[in-house]
Amino acid sequence: MSTFTDSIEKLIESLIKLPGIGRRSAERIVNYILGASKEEIRILSERITKVKENVRFCNICNNLSEQEACKICQDVRRQKDVICIVEKPSDVTAIEKAGVFHGVYHVLLGSISPLEGRGPQDLKISGLLERIKQNNIKEIIIATDADTEGETTAIYLTKLIKPQGVKLSRIGLGIPVGSNLEYADSSTLSKSLEARRTI
Ligand SMILES: [Zn+2]
Repeated sequence: MSTFTDSIEKLIESLIKLPGIGRRSAERIVNYILGASKEEIRILSERITKVKENVRFCNICNNLSEQEACKICQDVRRQKDVICIVEKPSDVTAIEKAGVFHGVYHVLLGSISPLEGRGPQDLKISGLLERIKQNNIKEIIIATDADTEGETTAIYLTKLIKPQGVKLSRIGLGIPVGSNLEYADSSTLSKSLEARRTI
């Protein structure tokens, strides 16, 4: 039987739903909360609520944003005619950390997975085709994951984009086969971008 109070048990129940948090970590977080000032915890819960209320997807690239356009799309220093296609916003974060890409992104918000019943219609592709049509795009880099879903998505996108006459490339070797881009370290990512091959 648990020796915790009801409200502590309820909080632990919520905390162990968080990624990477087991019961022991949840109990440590509860101890921290109990020891912290009321003000500190008020700010913490307010920040969680604010993220949920304010963060949405960029109207242009689907990256996370609090405005119509994300910080990268708004940045005048970014090369708007080079688009890097990724699966999710955390991939943008990973590539930005590597610091070698100066173009803009297009986040698909998913990947094609016939096994899980996800097809091209579930991805943000129409906006990408619009961008290619309307802007004078010089190069498109496909940086989907190196796993089966990512490769399937890359093949689909190649068939779709190639006829548009835009230079198309796929990030190169370095990312181990079967792995997720967001977990690759910065030097691997920058090498992969440099070693991209035209398709
Ligand atoms: Zn954007």
